[in-house]
Amino acid sequence: MSKPVANDFALVLNAGSSSLKFCVYRLTNSGKWELDARGQIEGICVAPRLSANDANGANLANDHLSDEVCDGRAALNVLADWLRARYGGSRVLGVGHRVVHGGTRFLSPTIVSQQVLGELHELIPLAPLHQPYNLAAIEAVFERLPGVPQVACFDTSFHHTLPAVAALVPLPRDMCKSGLRRYGFHGLSYEYVASVIPELAPELSKGRVIVAHLGSGASLCALNGGKSVDNSLGFTALDGLCMGTRTGALDPGVVLYLFQTLGLSHKEVESILYKKSGLLGISGISSDMRDLLARNEPDAHLAVDYFVYRAAKEIGALTAVLGGIDGLIFTAGIGENSAEIRRRICQSSSWLGIIVDDEANAANGPRISSPQSKVSVWVIPTNEEFVIARHTGLLLGLR
Ligand code: ADP
Repeated sequence: MSKPVANDFALVLNAGSSSLKFCVYRLTNSGKWELDARGQIEGICVAPRLSANDANGANLANDHLSDEVCDGRAALNVLADWLRARYGGSRVLGVGHRVVHGGTRFLSPTIVSQQVLGELHELIPLAPLHQPYNLAAIEAVFERLPGVPQVACFDTSFHHTLPAVAALVPLPRDMCKSGLRRYGFHGLSYEYVASVIPELAPELSKGRVIVAHLGSGASLCALNGGKSVDNSLGFTALDGLCMGTRTGALDPGVVLYLFQTLGLSHKEVESILYKKSGLLGISGISSDMRDLLARNEPDAHLAVDYFVYRAAKEIGALTAVLGGIDGLIFTAGIGENSAEIRRRICQSSSWLGIIVDDEANAANGPRISSPQSKVSVWVIPTNEEFVIARHTGLLLGLR
């Protein structure tokens, strides 16, 4: 490809079941990727809407879309038209995608060929609620922007450093040969956080750190010297912490009970585990932490209590894995914005010597522990899209 010129851009896509999130990055003269716009097409099939802001948060679009925007391909067509209107004449240098599952084969970002796409399709059973949409977006780009190179960045890759014992699924070994192991997820978020630790908290870069990615999906990652040694998510994105609509860790006997005693079908069980449980299932009100914190119903309180309880319990477990803890970092929607949840998780983890500075916590950090705290505690906003843009640029030789 000829050298990028001033207005050329790279596109980052994060495609889900009902939304297509996107970021547009431009390469600066110093060779760094700079965000130019971010937005999303949400409500696909229900009440589709396009919204976008520039890098300073100024609104660029807020449009209701036709009801015909009913799948990823239609959403990508809308985005391509919007990009042409805003960036007409500039080239799309490459498209980087968030892809949830890379299995045992894709341990780092990969340029997508038809063969790679075929192999990623085989992983759909391991991430049935995410992978199909990620791959549909890749296919739509192949169709709509033929010739534009695409890069898949995986949520699992960052955890390829997990020791064998942490990756084990304790079933008969023969059964595990087909890829039954603990992979870990939210790796792009953890990679970003790990990349800024040397700058923000150099004393932690060689240390034992637990990162709490608390969003609609939630997990903890144990970092030793910046490398992932364990993650609370495992074979699928169901394990570990209580999430917006997912159970988190569950006695597998419960799943047997749903099948054998309640006679539910596998589709019903899948839907319960992924979409109807967690904060939503416990509260019966909402999967959204903000809503729950504002409510007075006992079940809303119970859902929040359970979320905090599970997080603190898992912090204890990962502290044991690490043999101690030097730093705790909060990130993602809840971790970055909810002083109340951070306070409560830190309070439950005070036995580790964690002391929070209330004022710094209320201001969302970056450092929220008091000078007396044995463990330094931080809030670091994650930036998965930036990690994808960086990998896309590197793999495509754009800088
Ligand atoms: P995802 O990217 O997985 O959809 P996010 O990282 O955006 O999720 O996190 C969404 C969650 O963050 C929601 O539960 C939302 O209520 C919560 N959240 C965002 N802001 C706040 C806030 N100020 N207080 C409490 N929770 C918040």
